[in-house]
Amino acid sequence: MKTLRLILGDQLNLGHSWYRQPDPDVIYFMAEMRQETDYTRHHIQKVVAFFLGMRHFSQTLQAKGHYVIYWTLDQLENQQDLTANLQALIQQHGITKFEYQEPDEYRLDQQLKTFCQDLAIPSNCVSSEHFLSERLELARFFEGKKQTIMESFYRYMRKKHGLLLDAAGAPVGGQWNFDADNRNKWKGDPAVPELPVWNRDVTELVDLIQAQGVKTIGRIDAQRFPWPVTREEGLELLDHFCNRLLPYFGSYQDALADDEPFLFHSRLSFMMNAKILSPLEVIEAVIQAYHRDPERISISQVEGFVRQILGWREYIRGMYWMRMPKMEQENFLEHRQPLPEFYWSGQTKMNCLSQAIGQSLDQAYAHHIQRLMITGNFALLSLVEPQAVDDWYLGIYIDALQWVELPNTRGMSQYADGGKIATKPYISSGNYINKMSNHCSDCHYNVKKRTGDDACPFNSLYWNFLEVHRPKLQNNRRMGMMYRLLDKIDPEERNAIQQRALHIIEHADAY
Ligand code: FAD
Ligand code: SF4
Repeated sequence: MKTLRLILGDQLNLGHSWYRQPDPDVIYFMAEMRQETDYTRHHIQKVVAFFLGMRHFSQTLQAKGHYVIYWTLDQLENQQDLTANLQALIQQHGITKFEYQEPDEYRLDQQLKTFCQDLAIPSNCVSSEHFLSERLELARFFEGKKQTIMESFYRYMRKKHGLLLDAAGAPVGGQWNFDADNRNKWKGDPAVPELPVWNRDVTELVDLIQAQGVKTIGRIDAQRFPWPVTREEGLELLDHFCNRLLPYFGSYQDALADDEPFLFHSRLSFMMNAKILSPLEVIEAVIQAYHRDPERISISQVEGFVRQILGWREYIRGMYWMRMPKMEQENFLEHRQPLPEFYWSGQTKMNCLSQAIGQSLDQAYAHHIQRLMITGNFALLSLVEPQAVDDWYLGIYIDALQWVELPNTRGMSQYADGGKIATKPYISSGNYINKMSNHCSDCHYNVKKRTGDDACPFNSLYWNFLEVHRPKLQNNRRMGMMYRLLDKIDPEERNAIQQRALHIIEHADAY
């Protein structure tokens, strides 16, 4: 029996049981394909990171004695389509069995299911052996429950994996969640430690991508590609995080600052989403660092980080599989506006947006609060159509894969699911941005003003959003206070606020 095993570009899990020992009857197949470069317009650094990660992974497997067929983007045999490539290989090598790992994206899952249905030889789909919950575990957990909030699933996951629990099964530190301790503004102290960067020369690969006509977004310094792409490099980044950043992670998790794109965030999302690092090894490394040095690393920092991976990341994946494919169509607030052009250039006078978008174009990265409370918040307040918002987020970030991008964007950020993921829309006026950052002090606009040419656009947009969506949101218990404040604004001013907001929505690129 000759088996063909497919390895997708985000399945670079060296610890998978497939690779325990080489088998002469197994051929592994990996390919750089236009199908994957073209389903959306990706950031150039994202394409480079995935291709480099795949190339290194295939070399490592080969060095361990596995037989790997690797097709580059310009390989003659490469038909640029997964199904066509697999069909050709099966014929050419007299394959008698086909195997693949559970894809994380719905479109690939469907494509491979259909492929296998039509296949004359037996096929088998196995786990990717990466996540800490099964695809449909969350769906089963929430079955029959009214609310599908993250916190209850997170506590279940803590208990299931016995993480951060004391001998009696109670949460270490006496609380399940230390989020309330994690809301500090960062004022330059402690200094952000220098980042490990790998500065690879990727000129040849960038030339290949361009020569093949792949359309990308964003910027790259091809002689100094900074991201880690191998397991050793990922472990170095993890080590840097545990030793240098973790002591401050939770405290400044929600902070924003001019010219500080990373602050104390781990930048591990690409490493985990490509499965080069496993979520469990990341969590265990962090908990070990805490046990080694509890004086320097407090439980609130550790719990805050573990929650992101064991809680949010697994929850988001579970919601994706519970709610696809309908999640892709949702638009609860019926937003129809186009995405402002400045999302593709960073050219706006609003400093917070110019910082978040500029760094996204430069680094293929923005941290969570930039994604949620700056770019996501502005798109939501400007009533932008969720599909356009999704397209942007799916392309621009190095870690963007639909299973994690879509629930975060449509659900958490744009409230397009009507409250399945977030209990209320994540909206804020300039006041919140001013509280958490230093952006406003260097901005063209005045964060204190609601009307007038120099008034912060977030302010009028915020109140307008509440007014526009009064029928759908007023009865949300978590929004009562917002509506009471809105109703206290003098009607004349409320009218002026609305006029300004409508102008911003229609002419966002002028701001
Ligand atoms: P850290 O702040 O260091 O957090 C550690 C890890 O926790 C991350 O690496 C990530 O694996 C996990 N994590 C934290 N929050 C989330 C979350 N909400 N969902 C899933 N995992 C989480 N994350 C992606 O990996 N890919 C995406 O395409 C993506 N799109 C997003 C779109 C929007 C609109 C928003 C609001 C968030 C999105 N996120 C996405 C979640 C989060 O912003 C990123 O995981 C995080 O910024 C990655 O940077 P980091 O590794 O430095 O994270
Ligand atoms: Fe952003 Fe408004 Fe602050 Fe300017 S004033 S940085 S637009 S929040």
